[in-house]
Amino acid sequence: MAYEPGSGYADPRRSTYAYVRRFLDLGGELKELTEVKNLLTDGQHITGIETDGETISCEVVVNVAGPWAARIAATAGVDVPIQVTREEEIICETSDVGGPPKLCFSDMAKAIYYRPEGTTRTLIGRGFPKDYQYVEPDGYNQEVDAPFIDEITQRFRARWPSFTSALFINSYTGLYDVTPDWHPILGRVDNMSGLYLCAGFSGHGFKIAPSIGELMTEEIVDGAAHSIDISRFNLRRFEQGALFTAAYGANRA
Ligand SMILES: Cc1cc2nc3c(=O)[nH]c(=O)nc-3n(C[C@H](O)[C@H](O)[C@H](O)COP(=O)(O)OP(=O)(O)OC[C@H]3O[C@@H](n4cnc5c(N)ncnc54)[C@H](O)[C@@H]3O)c2cc1C
Repeated sequence: MAYEPGSGYADPRRSTYAYVRRFLDLGGELKELTEVKNLLTDGQHITGIETDGETISCEVVVNVAGPWAARIAATAGVDVPIQVTREEEIICETSDVGGPPKLCFSDMAKAIYYRPEGTTRTLIGRGFPKDYQYVEPDGYNQEVDAPFIDEITQRFRARWPSFTSALFINSYTGLYDVTPDWHPILGRVDNMSGLYLCAGFSGHGFKIAPSIGELMTEEIVDGAAHSIDISRFNLRRFEQGALFTAAYGANRA
């Protein structure tokens, strides 16, 4: 068992708004509800992007489109090995059964994770190992399956018998953008100057996002990330057969 005194969780929506606010404060320009349709190139360099409304000339594009990153890269002829899996989580009301757990738990024995959701509720998800559901990001079933809810509540109650009467409140689905070794693809793309990849976080991209942002800035502005060497995360590792073997998700033995 590992205990991290400094661990915790953050609300993903509020975190995203905070990032956006800071980006705007620093002079960034945001185009909401604008889809990138195509990357534009001269065959070797990025020359711009085409959105659903306009063409924007530029020399640098960072592809951060998560589950859609492979599709966008393909418009520049770049093959990115990212598959998309469907994930489910549930939320239970736990105020009448002693309140939510005080910590974030990754329960490897029961293959579930759970954490407080606000002051009275508990969020529960299914950990590894499990079967993965590969889906198309634009056309997947967003309803959580009833057997999933049964299974996960059974696993949770087997660990915490006092939660037997916890009330099921809500459930939702989300997507993982998964690479063959379950680690992200970071950095410049060989043979297409100006194109950078920052995608394929394989279900663990939220917590590392601030440091990844700094490293990608160094990669673009200074020519290479220097706080930490990220060259092993480059897209070329798949061609070279230099995949990570450090375990995460379904790449564990
Ligand atoms: C159920 C679940 C639980 C998770 N738990 C954790 C956790 O505990 N810890 C952790 O660190 N991570 C966790 N993750 C993973 C984490 O959420 C992701 O790694 C992270 O959100 C990836 O961020 P991203 O910005 O790379 O991609 P995304 O958040 O997927 O953002 C991609 C963006 O690109 C946009 N986009 C796509 N196509 C286009 C286009 N053509 N034009 C313009 N925009 C486009 C999309 O609209 C989207 O806003 C979890 C994920 C799920 C699904």
